[in-house]
Amino acid sequence: MKRTLFVPLLLVLFLPGYSKASNEVTVKGFRYWSSESYTRVVIDVDRPVKFTQNRLSDPDRLYFDLSNCRLSKKTKPVVPVGDRILKKIRAGQLKNEVVRVVLDLQEFQTFNVFTLKDPHRVVIDVFGNRVEKSVLTLNSEERKRLEGIKRVVIDPGHGGKDPGAIGPNRLKEKDVVLAVAKKLGKILKEKHNIEVIFTRDRDVFIPLEERTAIANSKKADLFISIHANASRRRKARGIETYFLNWTNNREAIRVAARENAISVDKMKQAQDELQMILRDLARDNKKDESMKLAYNVQNSMVDSLSRDYKRVIDLGVKQALFYVLVGARMPSILIEVSFISNYEEEKRLAGKRYKDRIAEAIAKGVNRYTAPSKLAKRYQ
Ligand SMILES: [Zn+2]
Repeated sequence: MKRTLFVPLLLVLFLPGYSKASNEVTVKGFRYWSSESYTRVVIDVDRPVKFTQNRLSDPDRLYFDLSNCRLSKKTKPVVPVGDRILKKIRAGQLKNEVVRVVLDLQEFQTFNVFTLKDPHRVVIDVFGNRVEKSVLTLNSEERKRLEGIKRVVIDPGHGGKDPGAIGPNRLKEKDVVLAVAKKLGKILKEKHNIEVIFTRDRDVFIPLEERTAIANSKKADLFISIHANASRRRKARGIETYFLNWTNNREAIRVAARENAISVDKMKQAQDELQMILRDLARDNKKDESMKLAYNVQNSMVDSLSRDYKRVIDLGVKQALFYVLVGARMPSILIEVSFISNYEEEKRLAGKRYKDRIAEAIAKGVNRYTAPSKLAKRYQ
C-alpha cells in the first residue's frame, strides 16, 4: 500500500516543473493615457499574472514585479511618457523569470492597480499631487454640462430599521445625516435655486440600490450621499469625501464595507467581481467629475469648519466601491461628515450649529463646483 502511494507523490513533485514553463506569462507591451487628474498605464499580458508593487525614491518611482514572466522580444523596454505625472515606463527581465516594470514619476499622490480580463492586462492609475488644482479647471464638455445643473439628489444614509453607526452616547447616524441633508436641501433650494430631491426625508428604510435608482430616474445632475463615519479606534476623527472607484486602501475598504453592510472579506470579493463597473466608469467619464465635486466639497468643509472648530482633521478625498454610488449616471459623492464614534465629534454632531455649518459648507462646495465661470476667471 505504501509503495502505490509513493508513485503518485513523485508525479506530483515533477508536475509543477512542467506546468510552470507552459504557464509562463508574456508581457506584450505597454499603453498609457494622460488626463488632467491621472495617468493610466496598461501592461498587456497574455494570461493572468501575479505581481508585487513598491515605491522607491531617488529617483521617485513605482515598480511592479511580475512573476513567472517574460518580456516579449518585440516589446519596447522604454516608453517615454513625459506628461505631468509620469516621465517614462520601462521594463526589464530580472532573474527568476521576473519582469520588473518601472514607472518613473514626475509627480505623485497615490495610485491604484487592478487587473482585467479579455484580454488580460494590469491597469495602473497614477494620480499626481496637483490634483487639487486641476479639479478647479473644467474642460469645455464638463462646463457645458455644469451649466445645466438644475436638480440634485440628496441621500441621507441609512434610516428606519438601519440606524447606521451609533456613537458612544447613543447618537444615531441616521438622525444626524437626515438633519444635515434637510439643511443642505434648504440652502440649495433657497440660495442657489436648485431643485432638490431627497431619497428619504424622514426616518424610513430605503435599500442602497434604490437610492441611485431614484437619482437616475429623476435625471438628477448630481448625487450626494451623506454619512457619518465610525471606527473602533475612539480617537479616529475627521472629514473625508469619497467617489466611486476601485481601491487598494485598507481604510477605504473598511469604510465602504461598513456602509455597504458587508464584511471586509466580502468587500474585497465584491471589488473583484465588480470590475465591470470600472469599464462603465471609464465609458461614462463621470469619475473625473465626481472627483472634482468631491474635492470642492471636501475642501469647503475643512476650510469652513476649521474657522470655528478646533482639531478639524482633513482626511482627504478617497475612492472606494460604495454600492449606493454604483450605477449613478451623474457625478456622485459620498461624504463622511465626521466620526460619530469619537466623543468630541459625536458631541458636535448632536448639536444643531455644527450640522448647519456642515450643510452650509457642502452647499458652498457644490456651488463652487457648479460655478465654472467664476472659476475660469480666478484660475485663468
Ligand atoms: Zn453611513
